[in-house]
Amino acid sequence: MFGLFRKRIGDMLPGRVLTEREDLFCYGFDASSTENIPSAVVMPVNTREVSEIAAFAFDRRIPLIPRGAGTGMTGGAVPLRDTVVLSLEGMNRITDIDEKNMLAVVEPGVINYTLQEKLEEKGLFYPPDPASMKFCTLGGNVAENAGGPRAIKYGVTRDYVLGLEAVLPDGRVLSAGGKTYKGVVGYDLTRLLTGSEGTLGIITKIFLKILPLPAETATLLCTFSQPDDAAEAVSRITSSAIIPRTLEFMDRESILAVENYRPCGLPPDAGALLLIEVDGSHTAVSEDADRIASICSALGARIRVADDIYSKQQLWDARRAVSPALYHISPTKINEDIVVPRGRIPDMLRSLRAISEKYNLTIANFGHAGDGNIHVNVMTDRNNKDEYRKAQQAVRDIFEAALRLEGTISGEHGVGLTKKQYVGMELSDVSIELMKAVKNVFDPRGILNPGKMFPDSRR
Ligand SMILES: Cc1cc2nc3c(=O)[nH]c(=O)nc-3n(C[C@H](O)[C@H](O)[C@H](O)COP(=O)(O)OP(=O)(O)OC[C@H]3O[C@@H](n4cnc5c(N)ncnc54)[C@H](O)[C@@H]3O)c2cc1C
Repeated sequence: MFGLFRKRIGDMLPGRVLTEREDLFCYGFDASSTENIPSAVVMPVNTREVSEIAAFAFDRRIPLIPRGAGTGMTGGAVPLRDTVVLSLEGMNRITDIDEKNMLAVVEPGVINYTLQEKLEEKGLFYPPDPASMKFCTLGGNVAENAGGPRAIKYGVTRDYVLGLEAVLPDGRVLSAGGKTYKGVVGYDLTRLLTGSEGTLGIITKIFLKILPLPAETATLLCTFSQPDDAAEAVSRITSSAIIPRTLEFMDRESILAVENYRPCGLPPDAGALLLIEVDGSHTAVSEDADRIASICSALGARIRVADDIYSKQQLWDARRAVSPALYHISPTKINEDIVVPRGRIPDMLRSLRAISEKYNLTIANFGHAGDGNIHVNVMTDRNNKDEYRKAQQAVRDIFEAALRLEGTISGEHGVGLTKKQYVGMELSDVSIELMKAVKNVFDPRGILNPGKMFPDSRR
């Protein structure tokens, strides 16, 4: 079956079907510590090629795994055995930046930061900024409905997708939405495909809403001796009338990990810190920054204002280094991204401390505290079987705590492979049945990114 695929698709796309083991290995993992070797990797460069590959695979029941840059945290792009990876990295053109209608049209393989840079040159702005933005693709962002630090003010990827084109598993091409800011004709297939993790269609074109670049930004580093005070500051800021554009949290373990990995001048004696940014007009920025500084000072924080581009960049480099720094310490750490209502962050941090003590495991926490999204990192070594078992029990306790606080088990990393056995903790049987029925309508042969998203059997 794969021999015929390699021959026929290889003839169609000369040099763009990979079959050597060392090449296949590069497409067998993402950032989730799960891996598998696919049977082939195919690299189309336009919608017609994607459609022909899908139709061929559909007829022969060959499973296809759409893939962007492979930075996903839950194994969504990781192939299972006997599957073909369909890499969208060659579809990487920004086809239009339409200033008149304030939208951009892109192919899925465009790197998020490439679009950000191109827009900034024109005084324009695309807010979604996952910490991986320098290397993840916009197609992957749409498939995961990625968020980022600026989500607290500007929302997540879904809020910017006006429309898209996707190839269905049988090769048909679907267009949903388009260039208008509004549209209510029929079901909202754009929103359904956004966040569908490559299980319903292969996204081949994206229409994105864009904004004018804010006139000014101010960046504050607020350092607290106690994590509870930082959590309290988050609640006070979000319940005041200020909407910062970022409100990022790092606990002591995350700060120390970054300073040991790539020293950035973060205070090593801090119990926790908040990296806060405000944007807007000159007056609004200075008023908001002053009010935030006084809220944090009242809780005993030391405040540092980054007053030039270099020091702003240095602080953001430090924030973006947290995930790699923690991987450096513990390559098989378990990384979760729970969300709780913003006012419940202090409760969630207390629960995390209790779970860390219960299992005697280090848990490092950081993330987008402004929207209640905490990246919880259980530091563990998979080769130590007893410890790893404890870590998995800790993960279940963490999810239970988040759900008890009326939260969710994932804010932006999705379900993929690594979280599928926990989905039933949050979703009802009715929801799961309906979602499976939707999957079946789009993909009756179950060949698009199989084995992801849904639990293997209900627990
Ligand atoms: C250091 C680091 C920091 C991160 N920070 C953040 C963060 O702040 N916020 C956040 O949301 N995420 C974050 N992530 C996770 C990850 O970067 C995002 O999920 C990103 O959107 C994945 O993009 P990708 O191109 O790497 O997709 P991949 O990992 O290649 O794929 C992800 C999923 O999308 C599907 N997919 C990819 N392209 C397509 C397509 N064209 N059509 C259909 N399906 C497709 C795949 O099948 C898979 O299920 C981080 C990851 C790392 C390693």
